[in-house]
Amino acid sequence: MTTKKTPAPAAVKKPAEAAPKKKVQQPPQLVRGMRDVMNPEWPYRDKMYEEAKRLAEDYGYERIETPILEETSLFIRGVGKVTDIVEKEMFSFETSGGEKVTMRPEGTSPISRAYLQHGMVNRPQPVKFWYWSSMFRHERPQSGRYREHTQWGCECIGDASSILDAQQAFLAWKLLDVLGIPSIVHINSIGTPESRANYRDALVAFFRTKRHKLSEDDKKRLLKNPLRLLDSKEPGMEEMKAEAPQIVDWLDEASKTHFMQVLEYLDEMGVPYQLNPYLVRGLDYYTRTVFEVFPVSEDPEVAKLALGGGGRYDILIEQIGGKPTPACGFGLGVERVAARLREINPALADKSSERDVFVAQLGDQGRKKAFAIFEALRADGIRTAATLSKDAIKAQMEVANKCGAKWAIIVGQKEVLDGTAIIRDMDSGTQETVDSKKIVQEVRKKLK
Ligand code: AMP
Repeated sequence: MTTKKTPAPAAVKKPAEAAPKKKVQQPPQLVRGMRDVMNPEWPYRDKMYEEAKRLAEDYGYERIETPILEETSLFIRGVGKVTDIVEKEMFSFETSGGEKVTMRPEGTSPISRAYLQHGMVNRPQPVKFWYWSSMFRHERPQSGRYREHTQWGCECIGDASSILDAQQAFLAWKLLDVLGIPSIVHINSIGTPESRANYRDALVAFFRTKRHKLSEDDKKRLLKNPLRLLDSKEPGMEEMKAEAPQIVDWLDEASKTHFMQVLEYLDEMGVPYQLNPYLVRGLDYYTRTVFEVFPVSEDPEVAKLALGGGGRYDILIEQIGGKPTPACGFGLGVERVAARLREINPALADKSSERDVFVAQLGDQGRKKAFAIFEALRADGIRTAATLSKDAIKAQMEVANKCGAKWAIIVGQKEVLDGTAIIRDMDSGTQETVDSKKIVQEVRKKLK
């Protein structure tokens, strides 16, 4: 009898374990509404910066850079609780130490805080500052509206004279003028808090009678911040606004006189302006003069995007804990101005890569020498380029041509041994050999 071997039970095969999938990690992306500032934007920003710095310094403004983080309460007290910025747009958070902080959405409140904190009230008044700073606002991203943008601005603190209001509008307009960007200042006066309160009552009374025609957003504005109704772009608003009471008719006598003086100064300085009774600006701290600067353009989309804005803010410093201190200022949006400049003056682009001289090398010894020659030329103020890591002379000459160099300096093994360098005319191809110690002098002579 044969015994059948019962086959050993097959080892129960576990279902093949799926090899753990490697998580494909997405490379980190830009945070929504943020942007990298790259070429071709830089030449336009640089040009704006250069002219803005000169203008501000010529007018006696000194530079300030406040920190990006401020106590949240600064903006609640300064800009105002019921404003778009504070209600919807601030990047606010609590630090691990429990401090409630906000990334600066605008420049005026932090500079006013600095004025108080550093006892600048004891300096001769007014104290005048300029800044070039990034601002953070959690707005709905769209063209010309970013969550981080830069502003060039001026603030003039400690003087109530109307000529200083005019100076702010003038400086904003003048920078654009210097850059060749046609613009017009829209200007209005919103009076003192008292005259504004009377006007607000009249406005509320008027719009209450039209409440049934208002959008939900505008109904909210009517309750919380009725002056913002004047900014409303909702359908049907144009006609209603035209019938609404106008703020100039509610100004106190002193504000009226102040406003007339501001306009006279603008006339005198040839600043193009337009009275805009609907301009109120969205921040609580403004008093009397408010203005915005718009580009003049046939394209309505371009023309409606303000390049800057500002005004007088006589109550801000008191609101944040100081003595009543008159002040005025403005900010221009760098991204918007740079974009406009690019449209108007595209030729400004990419000058930064243009060079007069290119230093080329052959071999390791040549590379060392070329590094030193490049630095000697650069330090002497000669616009020089080199691609020190490249070996092939052909590739180096291509770069020399790209950057528009008129002269190339070539250093090879032989020149290193002889203590010389070759200067080549890039147009004609003619070359001469010179003492490498005299290279800066020789190049200077040729560039004359
Ligand atoms: P404002 O004080 O809000 O009127 O801002 C002053 C200027 O900064 C505006 O006229 C714009 O040119 C610019 N600006 C304001 N908000 C933004 C934004 N979110 N993105 C780009 N530029 C802005």
